Amino acid sequence: EARVARIASTIRVIPDFPKPGIMFQDITTMLLKPDAFRDTIELFVERYKDKGITVIAGVEARGFIFGPPIALALGAKFVPLRKPKKLPGEVISEEYSLEYGTDKIEMHVGAVEPNGRAVVVDDLIATGGTLSAAVKLIERAGAEVVECACVIELPELKGRDKLGNKPVFVLVKAD
Ligand code: 5GP
Repeated sequence: EARVARIASTIRVIPDFPKPGIMFQDITTMLLKPDAFRDTIELFVERYKDKGITVIAGVEARGFIFGPPIALALGAKFVPLRKPKKLPGEVISEEYSLEYGTDKIEMHVGAVEPNGRAVVVDDLIATGGTLSAAVKLIERAGAEVVECACVIELPELKGRDKLGNKPVFVLVKAD
């Protein structure tokens, strides 16, 4: 797929960010190339149109870049999944483990309808901890997570294992 190759070529890798030994996949360089950014959104929209998707849930922060244009194109609602203490209304939250310690994401009560059909969007899947917490939040609200969608996967970290049988759709596998 020519579009995927073009998208991959716009992602910058920054060694030792935010810590020594991490090869950080930087999607901001893709956003500087409107053709690549558009292709990214279109690939997701092509996959999910006509699938009855009613909810696009985006994970803070970079899921807020890719999620909303997909939601608008599909005619679905956009639901932000946020870091703790950011959402002003009543929330439900899910904790997940990091390399050291834990983190949490939150969603507004009532944002997702029971019987909703959701896709969770983020820029990247590493260990899968963030996406699995996101899936749990949405399922607790009674909706179905049809799939998770990311621009980039780091396959060595086996994040899919943490998601059980939940499908994960990615455009680019990084090595
Ligand atoms: P996981 O929970 O799968 O281990 O980590 C995924 C989360 O960390 C995502 O929200 C993603 O934005 C962020 N993340 C981890 N590594 C990278 C990276 O190399 N590049 C970017 N852009 N995000 C990363």
